[in-house]
Amino acid sequence: MDAEQEVISVHEDGRPDRPWIADGSCPVETCGTVDSRIYAPPPMNLVFPEVVPGDALRISASTFQNWKRCPGNAEARLRGLHPPESRHSFAGSLAHRLFKRHLTDGPIPEEEFAMVCRQEIGSTNLKFRLAEAGLRKMSDLEPLFDEARDLYRRFRMLPAGGFREGEVSLEHPLPDAGITLVGVVDAVFEDDGGVRLVDWKTGGVHDPEAQMGFYAMLWALARGELPAAVEALSVRSGEVYRDTPTWETARSVAEEVAEMVSSLRTAWERGGDADRYGGPWCSWCPVLEECPEGQTASRLLD
Ligand code: SF4
Repeated sequence: MDAEQEVISVHEDGRPDRPWIADGSCPVETCGTVDSRIYAPPPMNLVFPEVVPGDALRISASTFQNWKRCPGNAEARLRGLHPPESRHSFAGSLAHRLFKRHLTDGPIPEEEFAMVCRQEIGSTNLKFRLAEAGLRKMSDLEPLFDEARDLYRRFRMLPAGGFREGEVSLEHPLPDAGITLVGVVDAVFEDDGGVRLVDWKTGGVHDPEAQMGFYAMLWALARGELPAAVEALSVRSGEVYRDTPTWETARSVAEEVAEMVSSLRTAWERGGDADRYGGPWCSWCPVLEECPEGQTASRLLD
């Protein structure tokens, strides 16, 4: 440790405790020998904006992403409606379990693959989703395991250095707003630059900006620090979306989430529904059958 460093103390936020060092000289003159990190600007914090009061809501990244596409879709999910389970989504969920197992317990030997799949289904809520996905017979499982095996083989080719945690649950209650922000990040990596939040896609990457922006905002609120990067990665195609969040972008996402909460509560207070905008997302909307806008969009896009 240099002599100058010994006599300069700093506040927790990095500001020098006093501008002059013990021998009376100005620390600016000694900046070549003082660790520059002690002069780093204080960390910014994130304050969630005020919202229209109303019933308690749990807001997830997918709620926000769906609201950005169509407010009616987010409204349906907040009311507890969800699209029916499909074999494809079931295989994706199983593959995510295998990814986490690989990173925490090591590679899955080929001869144990089917047994591990059965273990993952039997020990998680996947077992309750089998029937809804139309997977009623043992013979239905073989093609399902083949799809999961293909995704797992592709996953094993991805770099895994710096892995810290898998399936990280984040929850940040905001009692004054009457909402709780929630999310599950597939994996957290620690690189030289800091923490990187990763979401693995078993299909295409599509438009992950809202989802990944929500994760960055939620991480900042729950952990008090910004992630250095957020990443959505298609295991199937190798396509990658990567962004470097800033406090400004996190604040901007928080403002949009607050706007979502206020606009939905205002619509409900007036006895109305949220606006509906049709698009490709209608095909996995839980209220498609009763939504004229969605049915028109589906006809035009088919
Ligand atoms: S079907 Fe389409 S337009 Fe209708 S609420 Fe759902 S996403 Fe919106």
